[in-house]
Amino acid sequence: MGLPSEAGRPEVFRDALLRAGVLIDGGTPGLYLRSGEFEAVARAVESLMRRQMAEDGAEEIHPQPGMTTRALGKSGYMRSFPQLAGTIGCFCGDDAAHRRLVCKLDDEEDWTDQQVTSEVSLIPAACYPTYALIASRGPLPVDGHRVAITSWCFRHEPSPDPCRMQMFRMAESVRYGTPEQARAHRELWMTRVAEAATMMGLPHTIEPANDPFFGRTGRLMATSQLEQELKMELLIPVSDETKPTACASVNMHLDGMGLKWGITTQDGAPAHTACVGYGLERMSLALFRHHGAEPRDWPPSVRAALWP
Ligand code: ATP
Ligand code: ZN
Ligand code: MG
Repeated sequence: MGLPSEAGRPEVFRDALLRAGVLIDGGTPGLYLRSGEFEAVARAVESLMRRQMAEDGAEEIHPQPGMTTRALGKSGYMRSFPQLAGTIGCFCGDDAAHRRLVCKLDDEEDWTDQQVTSEVSLIPAACYPTYALIASRGPLPVDGHRVAITSWCFRHEPSPDPCRMQMFRMAESVRYGTPEQARAHRELWMTRVAEAATMMGLPHTIEPANDPFFGRTGRLMATSQLEQELKMELLIPVSDETKPTACASVNMHLDGMGLKWGITTQDGAPAHTACVGYGLERMSLALFRHHGAEPRDWPPSVRAALWP
């Protein structure tokens, strides 16, 4: 049977995962070590997602978990979600600076002010490193383009909810093309994310949603995103029966990314883009929640979908 959860208390599901050894505590909320069982499931989930993406002949790209700090700035992420981003700090000092650093370590003081922000930042969403690349290739072909990309992502949102990790993997299929091509991608993937959930024996709904844009102007952006149904989420009850978890999302950027990065169609118009992103950790946790701690005991149909 499945693992327990309780309304309004995500730590109940977290503790069940830790007790069963599916995840191991990583020392701070949102950080975990993964067991062999968890990782085998996450990889099977990714394979299922990739089989869906391969049907469209998407170009596979595998990034390291970093992107340039310059590209993160240009992406607009710091304007919309400064609270979530993570840059990488590195020590770049001389001997004297090193002595100061070691003194601070000896005195058990904060030593991180001896570092500077490096040219590398953590990727906040898997599609982020693709836009500059696609723009650099010149105008899109008539059929537009598709990229399938899986990346480790970082978001500073520490939480007792095991579904809200600080580092997690996202498998995305990104579409670049005309407004019609981008919209067709959205329609297709709304169907496909539901199919994937059905194949995995997971109860689900699809609902419009908004991103957590920062501050007062952010609230207006969130409202407009919701009204235009630019973001649709695949919701599955995981940590909380009464508050289902977004395990995948289908997003339309209209011409926002095309304009920002200079991606154009054949006729020189800014490209429209859309992406679908599956959370590999959340999809895996949904499976453990509904089918139990032992993948070998999961329903045969679910096992067949994951390990064909
Ligand atoms: P939420 O509304 O729960 O914060 P989100 O809208 O931020 O989710 P997206 O930005 O659409 O999520 O990211 C795509 C997918 O990545 C999500 O559907 C989810 O499966 C996964 N994801 C997002 N944030 C996290 C996180 N903190 N931990 C684990 N998975 C995540
Ligand atoms: Zn995306
Ligand atoms: Mg979020």
